[in-house]
Amino acid sequence: MKAILIVVYAACTLLFALAALANAADQTQTFPTSAGPVKITPLNHASTLIEAGGKTIYLDPAKPVKFAGLPKADLILITDIHGDHMDPDSIKEISKGDTEIISSPAVVQTVTTAKPIANGETKSWQGWTIEAIPAYNLKRGPAPGKLFHDKGRGNGYVLTYGGKRFYFSGDTEGVPEMRALKNIDVAFVCMNLPYTMPPEEAADAVKAFHPKIVIPYHYRGSDLAVFQKELEETGIEVRLLEWYPK
Ligand code: ZN
Repeated sequence: MKAILIVVYAACTLLFALAALANAADQTQTFPTSAGPVKITPLNHASTLIEAGGKTIYLDPAKPVKFAGLPKADLILITDIHGDHMDPDSIKEISKGDTEIISSPAVVQTVTTAKPIANGETKSWQGWTIEAIPAYNLKRGPAPGKLFHDKGRGNGYVLTYGGKRFYFSGDTEGVPEMRALKNIDVAFVCMNLPYTMPPEEAADAVKAFHPKIVIPYHYRGSDLAVFQKELEETGIEVRLLEWYPK
């Protein structure tokens, strides 16, 4: 009897894992580029899976994502030091012998194998160009005179592959460096209070740099209908994905 229960339990666990994977796969967005398709899958909150040219990239892999069944990383990109972006356990789980890690310099203090890329710097990796865009608070912080994200510590990234430019904002308000971005095809933009910005401010910043497509991410608790409404009739496509699977 006990053995049967264990088998049933194992089968159920596997089914749940498969269902979770199928769910994640449903959310995968495929973008054609001159170097072949780029597939982007939302995993949770800021954690994102990017696949192109047979290579696997994770952005901010962190709990509560279950990585079992997902491919190992060729590259891990990390934006900042908070646990929803930098998680040594998740990094360990998806790493193989030749996994490379690129992160903001502050992350290197904890993830010592990461190669630092500072705000404004550019690196090349396997057909990708990686550009670090400043991600920081202008006014919001845990106490007067303090910011949740100080300028210089966190990176957003513009990732270019086959002529297509993908922007991941990291944790930021609508800073001038975001507003000044040019020729972004797909923008992943954060919003959530109190840490980053409300949907109205995110929409205002998005209007300023006018990506072709914008996908809200890192939006826990935000009213996406407000974001959508603000961007109506701007010609910017707002694409909503499920970043908080149950
Ligand atoms: Zn965050």
